[in-house]
Amino acid sequence: MKCSEAVGYPLPPPDEGALDDREGLFGFAHSYETSSRYDGPGVRIVLFLSGCLLRCTYCHNPDTWHLKDGTYVSIEQVTNRLADFAPALRSMGGGLTISGGEPMVQLAFTRRILSAAKDMGLHTAIETSGFLGDRADEKFLSVLDLVLLDIKSGDPETYRKATSRDLAPTLRFAERLAAMGKPVWVRFTLVPGLTDDPANVEEIAKFVAPMKNVEWVEIQPFHQLGAFKWKAMGLDYKEANTPSPTTELHKRVIEQFRAAGCRAR
Ligand code: SF4
Repeated sequence: MKCSEAVGYPLPPPDEGALDDREGLFGFAHSYETSSRYDGPGVRIVLFLSGCLLRCTYCHNPDTWHLKDGTYVSIEQVTNRLADFAPALRSMGGGLTISGGEPMVQLAFTRRILSAAKDMGLHTAIETSGFLGDRADEKFLSVLDLVLLDIKSGDPETYRKATSRDLAPTLRFAERLAAMGKPVWVRFTLVPGLTDDPANVEEIAKFVAPMKNVEWVEIQPFHQLGAFKWKAMGLDYKEANTPSPTTELHKRVIEQFRAAGCRAR
């Protein structure tokens, strides 16, 4: 059964500005989802941590942007919950994926969870924009089996328009992962009128194609399932009238990646 639940009972949280993440013994977790088949190999549990520095105009989870959107929990609360699922996940060849928000906002907390998952014999992954990739030290990367790396655009101007941040840190992180041979699935959200320009797609395809560690490029079609959250939060939702990509557009983009030599789906 697929479910989305809070991670634990709330502890009294510190001020957001005063959060000390060096030890990673406590952190802000938003929710988790069981039985995902899309966020890494096998059947996964996906843990959504809160906190993100990007502001994607099409974000499906604006309710995870701030640390305090999550519940302040201890590492034991998270790992005890994970241990409940570990035997089933192992038997289904799956594991843990940490998403968000952005998992590298709370780097030490994320590392401790990944490390505990490895100790339970689970495959580990994070889904990340790579914007904070410079923070990922060897200790962090050593407990990570797979990176689901969102490259949200290939053209720096389009990237900024879509996310309000710079593209360069993401590309730097991708190059570092390639140099160390860390398995990566690149993810690209196809948003008509924003990220679908052939030249924008081509930039990512050309960048990724020579990287032997990139096992898949996954095209994620934009949808409106997160729209209600923007409305409920009183946020200005720029993609209110953006349609999902047509089948033709989706096919064109997959073909563009394949023509460049990527394994795309
Ligand atoms: S990086 Fe992810 S969580 Fe952050 S704003 Fe973009 S889509 Fe939302």
